[in-house]
Amino acid sequence: MKKQESLQSPLDVTCVDLSYEGKGVCRDSFGNVVFVEGMFPGEEGSIKIVYKRAGQYFGEPIKLTKISADRIEPRCKVCRACGGCQFQQYSYEAQLKHKTNYVKDQLRKIAKLDIDVLPTLGMRNPYGYRNKIQMPFGKGDDGTVFTGFYRPGTHVIVPIKECHIEDPRAVKIINTLCEIMSKLGVEPYNEFSHEGFIRHALIKTAKGYSNIMLVLVTTRLNFPGKSRLISEIREKCPEVTTLIQNLNDERTSVILGDKCVTLYGSGYIKENLCGLDFMISAKSFFQTNSEMTEILYQTAMDYACMSKDDVVFDAYSGTGTIGLIATKYCGKVISVELVKEAVEDAKENAKINKITNFDVYCDDASTFINRLSKRSERIDVLFMDPPRKGSDERFLSVVLKLKPRRIVYISCNCSTLARDLITLKREYDIQKVQPVDLFPQTSHVETIVGLILKN
Ligand code: SAH
Repeated sequence: MKKQESLQSPLDVTCVDLSYEGKGVCRDSFGNVVFVEGMFPGEEGSIKIVYKRAGQYFGEPIKLTKISADRIEPRCKVCRACGGCQFQQYSYEAQLKHKTNYVKDQLRKIAKLDIDVLPTLGMRNPYGYRNKIQMPFGKGDDGTVFTGFYRPGTHVIVPIKECHIEDPRAVKIINTLCEIMSKLGVEPYNEFSHEGFIRHALIKTAKGYSNIMLVLVTTRLNFPGKSRLISEIREKCPEVTTLIQNLNDERTSVILGDKCVTLYGSGYIKENLCGLDFMISAKSFFQTNSEMTEILYQTAMDYACMSKDDVVFDAYSGTGTIGLIATKYCGKVISVELVKEAVEDAKENAKINKITNFDVYCDDASTFINRLSKRSERIDVLFMDPPRKGSDERFLSVVLKLKPRRIVYISCNCSTLARDLITLKREYDIQKVQPVDLFPQTSHVETIVGLILKN
């Protein structure tokens, strides 16, 4: 049989795998591949081709003739339209198994590493975990304000009252905010006309302390109904401990503008992870699942096997979390991070925890490690937690020269992780690979790898 030149709907397919984005990898009888949202391995059915991009076909199911035993009724009624939770219709057990296999597969395909991957660490209750939510507002024909999610690839807001992966306290606040805005007639921002005032609400919660931050992203500092809005929020949402206004009048899809004004409270919230307090401001980065982040960080500490005289280097350190937690187990920690605000936060976090064996520098990690190497500095243990694009050869080649005894690599993208391991495995043995489920119901996976210098 020959592969077809162009595929026509409807098409009968079998789902054989899941893609990185969580789409079903489906094949027709000729072996043609179509990525189908909401189809799981083992399922068969007829599908409609929705679009073709870069030579790849994307579709959606019309009717399933064979259904996976792992398919479940999703809690969220709009999970298909929203697109945020690719896996809500897939049992949690199957999600965890898929993530383990996916990591194993990437390491084998990209790095030619045929190694055991530990079963993905999951949550007991894989819902309500998101400690940061940011939502836009829309206005119905009857004048009521609603919140929701952008339909994937569009600027159309899918109205939603309940998101099952968000902290329920934040969901309650956002719904109350809609009611208040409707009642007071405060105009939500309209992206198409560039009119209105309230663009987004950003809410941050913590598990260790009952403090909550609400950030209103507005087009201007003063707008009709502002003071009544503030007093209603104070009254109806007493759990909000700090209210911040952020200004963003650009025609942009970037949510936060440069300027923040604290309307009441301290302007930040505190979270406690692994026994340390961390300040979280409106703009600072913090992992979005506190419960699993604590497990992630603790696992990283275990893999590092630090001792009291060790010099530890934490690269891509963000607000300093990993390095600060490590200070307890070693002699001193040197951290490096590119974003100035995050470095300031890290310094503040060291101060509030009274940690003195910690230094943080604002620099590019590769430039910085080169400088360490020129000064022949010693590094015993390296933590590295780069962004999605991974590290780079400049960084990795210096690591091979400095030869830390152990490396703990934390990654949110296992294809760039696998690529970087190709370099590191020249001098290091891979001891453990542990995926951690920081993002239940979605296709994202976080992975920790423990490496030890070959002797
Ligand atoms: N380890 C932190 C943050 C990890 S996110 C935590 O667990 O919270 C990755 C971090 O790498 C981000 O803070 C980002 O600003 C930083 N980063 C990105 N490119 C960098 C570079 N070239 N040099 C140093 N830091 C960088």
